[in-house]
Amino acid sequence: MDAGRRLAARGLVIGSSGNLSMRHDDLVVVTPTGLEIGDMKPEDLSIVAIDGTWVEGQYKPTSEVPLHLAIYQATGATAIAHTHAVTSAAVSCTCDELPAIHYNCLQLGGPVRVAPYATYGSVQLAENVVEAMAGGRNAALMANHGSIAYGDTMSKACDRLELLEWLCEHYAAATALGTPRALTPAELDDVIVAFLTDSYGSGPTEGTS
Ligand SMILES: [Zn+2]
Repeated sequence: MDAGRRLAARGLVIGSSGNLSMRHDDLVVVTPTGLEIGDMKPEDLSIVAIDGTWVEGQYKPTSEVPLHLAIYQATGATAIAHTHAVTSAAVSCTCDELPAIHYNCLQLGGPVRVAPYATYGSVQLAENVVEAMAGGRNAALMANHGSIAYGDTMSKACDRLELLEWLCEHYAAATALGTPRALTPAELDDVIVAFLTDSYGSGPTEGTS
């Protein structure tokens, strides 16, 4: 519920667009179709089995259940957030991959891919998104549709969705000024090395000399 309010407050969801889910063992709690994400109560949620069977809930589960289930089956995700955030949806119409113009894309597993368009709720869309997340990505853009991210908590999934929207805003701003230069694979590797070095350097014995 907090996640829905958070995404709505930050403008990433409007009304009932977008959906959230969390997995616990072989059950998945999902937001229902047609209700406002930012105004949802616990009793509004639906529960489906990992095979897609509707188990419980007074409202029909989101039409994107196949998408959520496919990601749970393909990854170690326990929480998924999907929205139609404006800039993410806009960028998804213009490229096959969000160019790595900022190293923060590494927090999403690298340059974010755009899953090819397919009708919402379809198995084809679910397959396209899973493929776009291959190779350690934890987020994807969905062509002419929106964005999606997962994590081991709903807070982490929402963090990543917000970061993806920020990266898309950054890209949109840069392309308005000219053709942005993307970071090279070697430059991204250097960021990973720097991050690992900093992580080692943050130990309790560091910084005393
Ligand atoms: Zn959608």
